[in-house]
Amino acid sequence: MPTLTDKKPVRPTNRALGRPAPELIFGDLWEYDPAPETADPKLKPRYELFIGGKFVAPASGKYFDSINPANETKIAEMALGSAPDVDAAYRAAQKAQEGVWGKMPGKERAKYLYRIARLLQDRAREFAVAETMDNGKPIKETRDFDVPMAAAHFFYHAGWADKLDYVAPGRRVAPLGIVGQVIPWNFPLLMMAWKLAPALAMGNCAVIKPATNTPLSALKLAEIIQDAGLPPGVVNILTGPGSTGGLIMAHPLAAKIAFTGSTEVGKVIMRSVAGTGKRMTMELGGKAANIVFDDAPLDQAVEGIVNGIFFNQGQVCCAGSRLLVHEPVADAVVAKLRNRLRVLRVGDPLDKNTDVGAIVSRDQLETVRGYLDAGVKEGAKMWQPPCRLPAKGFYMPPTLFTGVTQSHRIAREEIFGPVLAIITFRTVDEAIEKANNTEYGLSAGVWTDKGSRILKMSTELKAGVVWANTFNKFDPASPFGGYKESGFGREGGRQGLLDYCKLV
Ligand code: NAP
Ligand code: MG
Repeated sequence: MPTLTDKKPVRPTNRALGRPAPELIFGDLWEYDPAPETADPKLKPRYELFIGGKFVAPASGKYFDSINPANETKIAEMALGSAPDVDAAYRAAQKAQEGVWGKMPGKERAKYLYRIARLLQDRAREFAVAETMDNGKPIKETRDFDVPMAAAHFFYHAGWADKLDYVAPGRRVAPLGIVGQVIPWNFPLLMMAWKLAPALAMGNCAVIKPATNTPLSALKLAEIIQDAGLPPGVVNILTGPGSTGGLIMAHPLAAKIAFTGSTEVGKVIMRSVAGTGKRMTMELGGKAANIVFDDAPLDQAVEGIVNGIFFNQGQVCCAGSRLLVHEPVADAVVAKLRNRLRVLRVGDPLDKNTDVGAIVSRDQLETVRGYLDAGVKEGAKMWQPPCRLPAKGFYMPPTLFTGVTQSHRIAREEIFGPVLAIITFRTVDEAIEKANNTEYGLSAGVWTDKGSRILKMSTELKAGVVWANTFNKFDPASPFGGYKESGFGREGGRQGLLDYCKLV
């Protein structure tokens, strides 16, 4: 399906020109060769709950539809879990925790995690297609990032399971028990891995709920968990609405709750469990500053800016949604950004050439559109590249705002969409002051040639992760988490494991 244009090719080839093609100028008129991914996602018409190692019908007898945001079609029916299912899941987890799983040595637990990782690798293409269909993110992202990173998290934590003495040197660690976990829709499979792998490596059992928008890969992972022979009840997966998540967080058998999602819902959950003695970790929203100094390699910085805000359509908690650019290079950076945006391909997420896929839902698209209106109304200047969007599905062109001030809503609130607010600064101190002028503190980026400046910025920026001359780089060994209203606790690395154990 043509996305950017249906015009015939006008882009000169390198050979015709005898020099590199002027890609940035002719980008929006590119010839378009669709390259659809053809792997079979192996979908079932209906997915049940996964409780006690079995797929079981929900007590409510009700199901909801999972939708493909790229074309608004139904993918499958998902079970609607409610209170009796949540209770059954915790009972199953309790049995596993007090029985086989609780008694199993770490080196044996590791084998299951390795198996899950390998099975995920075996079915990687199928998972990539299913995830793209359910979420709308480009296949090149699910294929090259989401699925391999999910497998990497299981591999990494499998490696820890028999080395837990090194998690807190000098102390002995013990599992907490059963953990209740709720995750969002932006990285559905990867968030499953972030939550389950450390919990299991440490010897806990889990009851977990994916988001209503993207429940599919969680239930496909349940198939892998079953095939891996994980003892029944160690992992229980419940689909259903936010209220089901609330029940998982509130259940008295949960020794710890782990939540990834919006700051707003995170606060509701924190209030609901206050005083219960449950351990808690919260991975919440963000409004990262991506800071470009005049001595930065600008072409690389532009790639980092584009990756920072348009990866996964900007639906990323650590997205570089505020560009802070040094005044002397501001015009040059904006000009380069515009040229770069003209060649981004917006459209069918299953097309291997697509750079920007669909927004996850109609609601989210409306939310993002609301921010575009707010930006214009408050006086910022909006720019979008020329691009033709598919007639069906939830699409938004990549969007830049210049003339943004710190008081604008688009500079303060998490938009969670492909929208970049560009702000200028003159001095290092002003950059730090502006970057930290937010309730959030999840991530930041710094682009400069000076090592000393990188050290100063990473010390003074109040963000859980600071990337230098790169952005959105992840590794299971590297802890991720927030300051301020971006949450507390860490996921990944030794620090992430500390959040799933008690010291004895
Ligand atoms: P959300 O509305 O907070 O939902 C997250 C999850 O919580 C979903 O599974 C949701 O279920 C569930 N939920 C809703 N209300 C609940 C309640 N009262 N009690 C328990 N669970 C409840 O967030 P989202 O819109 O899915 O995701 C976007 C947000 O997640 C952004 O703010 C983003 O920054 C944040 N995020 C943070 C990180 C991080 O690591 N810091 C990573 C990814 C995303 P339903 O889907 O059924 O509503
Ligand atoms: Mg969906």
